[in-house]
Amino acid sequence: MCDIVVLHDGYSALKSTEEMSANCTCTLIKGRNNIIIDTMTPWDTDKIVSGLKQNNVTADDINYVVSTHGHSDHIGNNNIFLKAKHIVGFSISFKDSYYIHPFQEGKEFIIDDYVKVIPTPGHTLSDVTVLAISSEKETFAIAGDLFEKFEDIADPSLWLDAGSEDPTQQRRNRLKVAQLADWIVPGHGPKFEVTDEIRETLKTQYNNEITK
Ligand SMILES: [Zn+2]
Repeated sequence: MCDIVVLHDGYSALKSTEEMSANCTCTLIKGRNNIIIDTMTPWDTDKIVSGLKQNNVTADDINYVVSTHGHSDHIGNNNIFLKAKHIVGFSISFKDSYYIHPFQEGKEFIIDDYVKVIPTPGHTLSDVTVLAISSEKETFAIAGDLFEKFEDIADPSLWLDAGSEDPTQQRRNRLKVAQLADWIVPGHGPKFEVTDEIRETLKTQYNNEITK
């Protein structure tokens, strides 16, 4: 089992028609492996280092960095984790070694008994989600921009307008992840608990998409 700590709640908001302000949710998993997920922008190094310190972890204690996808606000501090294996979307590497893993065939990447990385394309074609079982035996999905924020369940324009390279796959994977998880940590908002009502809403949205 492991402890799942959100170090920073992400956000996103339009400032004008040409500018938005946004930063991603950054999550730490402490357990058999220490894992950091989505490392914000290069201007957030101090924030991340102090967040780790509050949890008695240093950058060198991190075994895996996972960027749910390769956008700039999700990879900005990967370079401070030099002892970790890096998973950026479907790409797995350490230094100049790259490890072939068939995410594109739907295959999950197992980190340990409590944590795995599953392919969830949609926002980009190589997005991944981290599934982790907490000490309270609840399943957390750290989903990156598969979910923009809680409010995007009722208002899908929030995730569609944030950019979706494949909305049909994204709808399917949103439903899949909601069926697997008790909690979702979205890319740009606070974590939220998954209810059956949420699962039903996502199912309806997906079914409407494939039958239209
Ligand atoms: Zn993002």
